Amino acid sequence: MSEVLVDTHTHYAHRRFDSGRDEILHGLVDNGVIAVIEGAIDFASNQKMKLLCDKYAHVFMAAGCHPNCVEEMDDEKYQVIVELTNYDKVLAIGETGLDYARDKSGEQICKQKVWFRKFIELAVEKKKPLVIHCRKAYDEAINILQEYKLAECPGVIHCFSGNLEQARKLMDIGFCLGVNGMFTKMDEDAELCVALKSIPLEKIVFETDSPYLIPDGVAGKRNTSKSLNVIVEKFAELRGESPEHIREGVLKNTKRLYPELFAG
Ligand SMILES: [Zn+2]
Repeated sequence: MSEVLVDTHTHYAHRRFDSGRDEILHGLVDNGVIAVIEGAIDFASNQKMKLLCDKYAHVFMAAGCHPNCVEEMDDEKYQVIVELTNYDKVLAIGETGLDYARDKSGEQICKQKVWFRKFIELAVEKKKPLVIHCRKAYDEAINILQEYKLAECPGVIHCFSGNLEQARKLMDIGFCLGVNGMFTKMDEDAELCVALKSIPLEKIVFETDSPYLIPDGVAGKRNTSKSLNVIVEKFAELRGESPEHIREGVLKNTKRLYPELFAG
């Protein structure tokens, strides 16, 4: 197989890859995956991802702190992340965003917003794309993002799970939408599938969110970037388009968003 694919969102630094990590990362290139972009979870994950980037030519990262982990953030940790953005394999800022999916106190939500804004400002300052995590908070996130003067290609809404109207607003701001295996487990008339059918191809990038979100029909207990091929096939089927057309279009967007990956 010689298809060229980029997994724009992974978590290989996660402890669920403590067994078999090297083997999996080595094997990706044989499956056509030329690069993976790790996304930050907690503060400590930034350092773990950096070690993977140092070790593997095809591993890149986004620096930040996931909205579910911002409780631990302080100015000192923020400065470490700011410093890390000077590392040439830090392609983006994130995960950052809003997550209202679990029971959240007013104080937690307030903290998420504070750090979301700080990371948006960092992305603007460093001229890097944002990797946004958003769950059950799309309208609020859109309102915040609209307050800023963002770049023409401001980043990606990772694991997009909103409706068509929210997709349109995010695309209007310039965002790409990250599509992973989640839709493969849904009915075709589910809100997300309806949105994915009509979103312009030039706004889509693919991701797996490994080790999470194993696509329908893929065996195993943890997801890997190999399943990108399944995501492409099922996405093509959903849209009634050819997988080749989908691959080509999505690769173009990925190049626009992350030109560094194709510079060498
Ligand atoms: Zn993620």
